[in-house]
Amino acid sequence: MNIAVAGTGYVGLVTGVCLAEHGHGVTCVDVDQQKVEIMRKGISPIFEPGLDELMLKNMERLTFTTDYKAAYREADVIFIGVGTPEKRDGSANLTYVYEVAGQIAASIERDCVVVVKSTVPIGTNDKIEAYMKARLAHPVQVWIASNPEFLAQGTAVQDTLHASRIVIGVEEDKPGVILQEVYKDFDAPKLLTNRRSAEMIKYASNDFLALKISYVNEIANLCETVGADIEDVTKGMGFDGRIGNQFLRAGIGYGGSCFPKDTKALSWLASFNDNEIKTIKAAIEVNENQKYRLIKKARKYYEDFKGLTVAVLGLTFKPGTDDLREAPSLVNIPVFLEDGAIVKAWDPVGVGNFKKKCDGDISYCESIEETLQDADICFIFTEWPQVKELDPHIFAACMKHPIILDGRNCYELERMEQAGVIYESIGRRAVQ
Ligand code: NAD
Repeated sequence: MNIAVAGTGYVGLVTGVCLAEHGHGVTCVDVDQQKVEIMRKGISPIFEPGLDELMLKNMERLTFTTDYKAAYREADVIFIGVGTPEKRDGSANLTYVYEVAGQIAASIERDCVVVVKSTVPIGTNDKIEAYMKARLAHPVQVWIASNPEFLAQGTAVQDTLHASRIVIGVEEDKPGVILQEVYKDFDAPKLLTNRRSAEMIKYASNDFLALKISYVNEIANLCETVGADIEDVTKGMGFDGRIGNQFLRAGIGYGGSCFPKDTKALSWLASFNDNEIKTIKAAIEVNENQKYRLIKKARKYYEDFKGLTVAVLGLTFKPGTDDLREAPSLVNIPVFLEDGAIVKAWDPVGVGNFKKKCDGDISYCESIEETLQDADICFIFTEWPQVKELDPHIFAACMKHPIILDGRNCYELERMEQAGVIYESIGRRAVQ
């Protein structure tokens, strides 16, 4: 089968490479010429564990191009994996999806299944079908299928090769049969449903996870007040199979390209249809507040950050990715800078992207020790393994005032006590 993928971001590129790994010939299309040049050399433009190796292994089945007409003309299946960012009002911006839909309609010269992998509001696939059918340049049959993506950045390759599920939403038999053929060697349960249900499965899943995080964070905040320990509390909860032990980690809130925008998009859609979902609205609000939780704690030690040396460990929204979208670091660091702090930051892969989003005067350090040197306070925003594996004595040895505010609960309290530092985390007692 001749397969094309529109968009070579975290979803599109990983999808293309994993389809190639299963023997398909795949043409990956992007508008970004620079990205295409890099990929042609067998290098991934994004940081995703295992992706470079898998790309190199499958280069003979992979083509990278900006020439969408050539890529789509003879394709049997075209995946759309472009971004659907958030608009100012919280609804999903579908500009890129419609742009690709128009390009496909203008290019295809044979019957083809167009697979919407981008996360789109319920009913969008129907609209794309009408939009494309009105614009077909050649008399061909086009079927639209919804095939939402569930990968997580940092484990995207494994999540795709061994997906939790493959959801295929179609309105006719033929595209369903074709997509089952495309995915026949993928080791994952497959669910065939209609398009609107497939679209809803994606939002309902992501928003449930966001809700779970916000719930645990609120419980964690209460734990601090009433003297309970969130680590033990979530462990105890996790033994219950109905709750499950995943996604129960308290912290300074979720970030990333999906949870923030997908909660807002569903909430917007629900309100637009006079069907407000109060739980999701609450999850969004809780998360916004949670991002500032450590700053509130810092006020106990310093009135403001003026003249202080602030060390920051971790910039990305989670470990294993270079993605900065909606990362807590992006809202916290500007507060330090505004107050007049000297900010030193460390991240193993996120510095390049951070510089694009924040132009403040920040010293980016090569090592954690260099970052901590002479600092008055340290904030941990990402639980990189290098941070978790750090000997806590290093904080005491390097910092002027060893005050550590940890948004990811990286260390056991006893170890921090032994290290003789001031340590505050989320949902646990303070070590002082
Ligand atoms: P991304 O921003 O990383 O990548 C999008 C890519 O599309 C970019 O490289 C951009 O240059 C390219 N593009 C834009 N217009 C194009 C066009 N006309 N033709 C070809 N390429 C074009 O986005 P992403 O994070 O991969 O997300 C893509 C979609 O998948 C979104 O809807 C997102 O919600 C969803 N999703 C993302 C994740 C995730 O973890 N990132 C997981 C599941 C679902």
